[in-house]
Amino acid sequence: MGKAVRGPRTELQHLMKCLTEGKYLHSHRVIPDTDTLSDIFWARPDSDAVKVVVTDRDQALMNAVDTIFPKANAILCRYHILMNVKTNFVRKTNLGKGVKKLEVWNNVKVLWENLVNSETDEEYDANFFTFFDCCKIWPEFVHYVKHMVLGPVKEKFVQVWTNRVMHFRNTMTNRVESNHARLKKYLNNSLGDICKNWVKTDDMLTNIVTEIQKEFQQSIIRRDKRLSGVVLWSQFQGNVSMKALEELEFELRRVDAVGTDHTKCGCVTMSTMGLPCACSLAKTVKEKKPISLNDIHSHWKRLKIDAEFKEENADLSLLPEWEALHV
Ligand SMILES: [Zn+2]
Repeated sequence: MGKAVRGPRTELQHLMKCLTEGKYLHSHRVIPDTDTLSDIFWARPDSDAVKVVVTDRDQALMNAVDTIFPKANAILCRYHILMNVKTNFVRKTNLGKGVKKLEVWNNVKVLWENLVNSETDEEYDANFFTFFDCCKIWPEFVHYVKHMVLGPVKEKFVQVWTNRVMHFRNTMTNRVESNHARLKKYLNNSLGDICKNWVKTDDMLTNIVTEIQKEFQQSIIRRDKRLSGVVLWSQFQGNVSMKALEELEFELRRVDAVGTDHTKCGCVTMSTMGLPCACSLAKTVKEKKPISLNDIHSHWKRLKIDAEFKEENADLSLLPEWEALHV
């Protein structure tokens, strides 16, 4: 950014000006008793209705998310947590000579994944017992897992808890990682100043938003063969994202096995994605009715991106353009 554009402002002051003028949501932290900036975080104005945010376990980032998206469900990336647990296993366990640590870890990993994938309280208790029973010979590792991971944040990544909140299948930050790589390409390993980079980031986000809008257009315009002439889908064409249709087709395949039994169903699709689950679809199919648009969360019916979008219960999953900001 040329001095001519910036005028007397420092790079950071200019960045703040860009963020304010672009109506970005932003927040920053200063190291106490100094004027040194430690973190800065910003998000596009159209990510205002973000419903779920997935991060790694960085306290500063988690706090920033709480400040900027107070209504969003904050979820921790299970993959990042797994990597933390692995690192600490390697560091905090003392195995005998000749024992291959990574081989032992592979067994511990299976127990850990069972624990994280627990879908009921009972399953969680049983997997919790097995995990710690097998690991009790490594008290330091046990302490870490109990008090640094499960204790403070289990609700944010163990399935029994994340299944109770709307997360639209965003439980990992993979999409963030790929956007991070994409952003790096845009920045072209430049050592340019932060303002120049901000302009490039803004360009990239604009392109991503355009891509999402194209996908939305597809959902609106495309005449989908699967929908035509089927009572069940008769309200869908042009009103609901094709992604929702795919999720519902998956649930429909469970209908025969589940029937209308809530306990067999588990109703996770309803609680995490705002879409009718197998037990509810079973009833609709039996009654030969169409799936009602009222049973579809607005997330799937929002087929445009608009900063002014103010529908009641306006919800939007973690937008890739926001994700890209986590760099
Ligand atoms: Zn159900």
